[in-house]
Amino acid sequence: MRRATTALGFLATCLLSFACGGTATDTNGEGGSSSTGSGGSGSTGSTSTTDSSSSSTGSTSTSGSTSTSGSTSTSGTGGSSGCTLTADTTQTSAVSSSGCHVLDRDTSACEAARTAQGLSGFWLKMSCRVTLSATTENGVAVVKAEIDEQPDYESNYFPTSNACHEDYTGAIQNPNYIVAKDTVVEFAQTPAGSGSNFMGAIVGIALNGVPIFGNFAAPGDDIYQEAKTFDRCGGHPQMNGNYHYHSEPFSISNDDDAFIGVLRDGSPVYGRKDADGSYPSDLDSTGGHTGTTLDSPSKAVYHYHVNEQTSTNAQSSGQKQWFLTKGGYHNAPAACGACN
Ligand SMILES: [Zn+2]
Repeated sequence: MRRATTALGFLATCLLSFACGGTATDTNGEGGSSSTGSGGSGSTGSTSTTDSSSSSTGSTSTSGSTSTSGSTSTSGTGGSSGCTLTADTTQTSAVSSSGCHVLDRDTSACEAARTAQGLSGFWLKMSCRVTLSATTENGVAVVKAEIDEQPDYESNYFPTSNACHEDYTGAIQNPNYIVAKDTVVEFAQTPAGSGSNFMGAIVGIALNGVPIFGNFAAPGDDIYQEAKTFDRCGGHPQMNGNYHYHSEPFSISNDDDAFIGVLRDGSPVYGRKDADGSYPSDLDSTGGHTGTTLDSPSKAVYHYHVNEQTSTNAQSSGQKQWFLTKGGYHNAPAACGACN
């Protein structure tokens, strides 16, 4: 029922704005199921034609090159690409099966400005690519985050002419490309009020400035099918070029307890584990629970976790996915004019 209501809400939202693009049948524009077809389920057949040429070993790209060796560049590629989005990031040794390294992000350059505004805790872990400001709107304390919605690692969803493009053949590529945006997302500074099902597209942001979308696709599409179009690090763009995450973002968290981002109701999202290393067993209907965290070690706070869900959709029944959300907010989300 939650999925149905959110889908209807999303459709209504899309009909009122250009945010979802013009094609009625694929309002989220992710091109997942229609462009890839059911043959995409990891079979080698249907998808290899478009991708194989660039993935061959003779490629001049650095994709797939050994990514270790202390390079200060990022995400599974070599170091000399000229991609400026990777500035202030350093690869760690934690790497996903798709080849995406968890990144350390140096936030020292923006910490003083944030603490001067009274921000603390997980807010200080947001990449300096995210511009934060604490303010009051209609008597409510909010945090505004200005983001360009681009990832801070290379992706096959950058156009090949972009220095941040990498070849990647581990997934099906949807027809969309990443476009830089200028978006302000607003957050409750103190979680309060009643929760609700997600409405619209952007329900939060990850610490690197990439929007978090819900655990569902546009009406008519199947998120479990769309998951086959995620790039090396777990994101993909919709038809207007807005890059986003639905599920565990491997450059930030990989089966760990890392802070990942924050939803618009002001509560943080962590990886699969709690700070004590255990997997939570008491997550509620919005995918969270109350307890201490890495960023609130002495005071229990509500927080979300990456949580595994299983498809009941006909075409993907039984398929599992580690999502960032479970379809709703625990508390009331801040108003956000750009989040539709
Ligand atoms: Zn927890």
